[in-house]
Amino acid sequence: STQLRLARRPEGEPDDTTFSTTTETLPELQDGQVALAIRYLSLDPYMRGRLSTAKSYAAPVEIGDVMVGGTVGEVVESRFDGLEPGDFVLSYSGWQSAAVVDGSQVRRLDPSVAPVTTALGVLGMPGFTAYAGLLEIGKPQEGETVVVAAATGPVGSAVGQIANLKGARSVGIAGGPDKVRALTEEFGFDAALDHRSPDFRDQLAEATPDGIDVYFENVGGAVFDAVRRRLNTYARIPVCGLVASYNAVGQPEGPDRMPGLMGQVLSQSLTVRGFIQSEFQKSHGRDFVRDMGQWVADGRVRYREDVVDGLENAPAAFAGMLRGENFGKLVVRVGG
Ligand code: NDP
Repeated sequence: STQLRLARRPEGEPDDTTFSTTTETLPELQDGQVALAIRYLSLDPYMRGRLSTAKSYAAPVEIGDVMVGGTVGEVVESRFDGLEPGDFVLSYSGWQSAAVVDGSQVRRLDPSVAPVTTALGVLGMPGFTAYAGLLEIGKPQEGETVVVAAATGPVGSAVGQIANLKGARSVGIAGGPDKVRALTEEFGFDAALDHRSPDFRDQLAEATPDGIDVYFENVGGAVFDAVRRRLNTYARIPVCGLVASYNAVGQPEGPDRMPGLMGQVLSQSLTVRGFIQSEFQKSHGRDFVRDMGQWVADGRVRYREDVVDGLENAPAAFAGMLRGENFGKLVVRVGG
């Protein structure tokens, strides 16, 4: 089997020297284990954090280790009761083409209920992030305005659609005309705009005539700077991700905006609450499976996938995602 291992911690964008390829034969199967052929690998922004030794909620990947990641595998051999060859499972096997894992550590997927790749996107970790973060922290009310960026991605697209299901008005921000069009046409956002256009601030003002009640923070940077001028009193900000700065080296230029921002948090009674999705697993996991399963099945929540062929293309696709080159949930189809 083939593995992609961390070779060098990147300064800024990950590049050709970040990962190296190895080949290995799998260990022999023990009782309780299954051998998996990996069919799909999920690429997610959090992986940038694992390449770095900066303090984080999770330990970094060590140099020489297989890069981590969520995967969909097909059982090729089983010594675990309840899984047999041909079964598809969700596992956390990382950037490799095959793996031997404990049967108790994987979740069996039913391809007749939904395509197996959805376990990595709308019905998996990113969809859950949107669901729990928006409902628990954002608490959108009928008629309120919810804004989210990276809005064609698996988290953002779910945030907008769930906001609409709760009777709120959704405003999506994305990069480039094709993505902006998809926001209203595919995902039903009430308004959509391009963070790269020169008049982004004016467009945002036009799209949010009643101000912003919930800003689901996925990106930070210049988008947040524009958004915060439109926030209403008592606005809620679930801080989910800051992808605009994941490749940053050093501090941004310009004046220190912290005092102004904290003044605003105080005077406008803002709620700013960061979260890591796993903290809501116990409290919201079952509701998510029920609600999102239903919404996807009946078409009220739509999703878009961006499938890249070949494990060898994972590093470039991952770097591209941090620049906005993906269009929908990014997954790698692993051959073999
Ligand atoms: P996406 O598929 O949306 O990919 C990231 C997107 O970020 C890009 O496609 C790009 O979209 C956008 N982007 C990149 N740079 C910038 C920038 N400078 N300004 C504005 N947008 C930018 O990823 P996900 O849906 O998987 O993740 C979305 C966010 O949610 C990330 O921040 C991620 O870290 C976070 N997250 C947090 C979790 C948690 O537990 N807290 C769990 C899962 C995800 P575009 O072309 O539209 O600009």
